[in-house]
Amino acid sequence: MYRTCKPEYLPREVKDYELDEGLQSTNTMESIKKYLEIKHLVNAAADAVLKEKKNLHQMAKNYGIECSILHQKVSIMKLLETYLDNKFKYEAAVKAVLFEKQIIKFAAEKYQIDCRSLCEEIVWFSNSGEETYEFDRSFDSLLRTFTFKEELSLLKSLELWKTEGRPFCSCELCSLEKLLYIAYQFAQEKKIKYPKTWDIEKRATVGWLIGFEMAHSKLISKLVSRNECFRLPELRWKPDFATFVKFAGKKKIYN
Ligand SMILES: [Zn+2]
Repeated sequence: MYRTCKPEYLPREVKDYELDEGLQSTNTMESIKKYLEIKHLVNAAADAVLKEKKNLHQMAKNYGIECSILHQKVSIMKLLETYLDNKFKYEAAVKAVLFEKQIIKFAAEKYQIDCRSLCEEIVWFSNSGEETYEFDRSFDSLLRTFTFKEELSLLKSLELWKTEGRPFCSCELCSLEKLLYIAYQFAQEKKIKYPKTWDIEKRATVGWLIGFEMAHSKLISKLVSRNECFRLPELRWKPDFATFVKFAGKKKIYN
């Protein structure tokens, strides 16, 4: 069973790092781990449903996954596609009106968007003080806490954590765990309304995380290490001296 114990023979700095982060409950890490174990099946089944127009229930059965999780993935991918399509249309239409002096009605017709919504976007942008217009909102206002742009900011923070934070382990599991804290902190700093349940352990919930990962699977897989987790006790991580020195050098524990 997975637990967040520390491997033996760790330098002091690593222990401090883990204590600072706050240890995750076993259930949370187990839930993330379980999702990661089936993620490739969910992605493959969703591809079959979306690209090959296969039946969702049949694909769930073929890939041995729950219908509900496949349904969630497919819904998110559809909403995201619609959102990106709208983003492209609105940004092109606003640009056409403001910089190419097109009449709003014609720009709306050309890009097949609602004329009133386009007017509202232009008014909003004119009053915003922003230098460039960017279409930005949540692509599922009912279930997602952040706007699309904010979600990309979370990924940027994750990248910074990995490159500058020098984490002990930046495997997929540890990276997704870190995202729970990044999301909570970001919501607090930017005064974004978030579910009250996040306050209990001062982090986002696994439910939010899975929805987030489903939308950004490709970007996340580019960011995170494919290594096995150094923190998993199953590895019984007992490095030989040469490995330990190599690791310690990376963490700069002797500086
Ligand atoms: Zn790890």
